[in-house]
Amino acid sequence: MYGYEIFHEDILNRLIRSVREGKNAAAYIFEGHKGLHKSEAARLFAKALVCENPENAPCCGCPSCVEAQAGSHPDIIYVEKEKDRASLGVGPIRDMVTECGIKPFGKRHKVFIIDEGDLLTPEAENAFLKIIEEPPEYAVFIIICSNAEFLLETVRSRSIIVTFPPVPEEIVQDYIERKYPDEPRIDFFVKYCEGIPGAADELIGDPELEGFRDEVLSLVPRLLSKNKIHGFEAADYVEKNKDKAADICDLLLMYTRDAMVIAMGSPEKVINTDKRDKLDKLVEAYPAERLVAGVTELITARKMLDRHVKASAAILHAALDI
Ligand SMILES: [Zn+2]
Repeated sequence: MYGYEIFHEDILNRLIRSVREGKNAAAYIFEGHKGLHKSEAARLFAKALVCENPENAPCCGCPSCVEAQAGSHPDIIYVEKEKDRASLGVGPIRDMVTECGIKPFGKRHKVFIIDEGDLLTPEAENAFLKIIEEPPEYAVFIIICSNAEFLLETVRSRSIIVTFPPVPEEIVQDYIERKYPDEPRIDFFVKYCEGIPGAADELIGDPELEGFRDEVLSLVPRLLSKNKIHGFEAADYVEKNKDKAADICDLLLMYTRDAMVIAMGSPEKVINTDKRDKLDKLVEAYPAERLVAGVTELITARKMLDRHVKASAAILHAALDI
């Protein structure tokens, strides 16, 4: 969209319309999961804000649009944390306030993008608050963060909060197919990314992913075996990898569901097509009712995790009830 990889065209169309009508606000918070290209969205919005043809912004042809696209427009400023700091402190925000006092180079807006909004300290937010209470008319601020709730209420109440939700599977699929045309595991990634296209960028090419998928696949027979010791072994694996408990549970559910759909005569619904041999072995080894029970119990286990039940307990519970 206008030269950017955007997943939320509806949101961007609204923002661009506000620029064209001269109705944009001074401060925005773009919130949502990492991997939804909120930064790309901010760059596109900034391009529209500095475009020299506001009624048609971003026109993509004026010198401002060209510079914005190249990432070299002097009125689009990125506010970043100091290199040796873990948080985004008051220093860079005070610099931003000073910079904000200087009129833009162009005739339009001066846009400040704070890409690491999650790292803002309360002092930095208070310094930011002073400038958004009475901003110069040319200034626009965009804070990008995972969840606006983590920002001060006083900052939130003076900003337009723009939420970027997860997107439909078709959009994830389209993104992966275009970016990774030779990827054989597209169906798996479309499901596994859960509406976050950018999550695929971290997963595809991760050297540990395949080992992890195989390990979890080897747990499925332990869960289905109706053998208490095997159940404890599965729970033990989850306990040792509890930072990945939700991923383990999701994968277990995906594999068991894959085996179930094969058993029920719908192999075209398999997600992990690259694991078909092992899935077929599961179907040979266990009756369809056991696979259905596995899916049901794993859905329950996943809900238990969402309620913060201890992960190993949730898996053990599933194994014993299948
Ligand atoms: Zn333009």
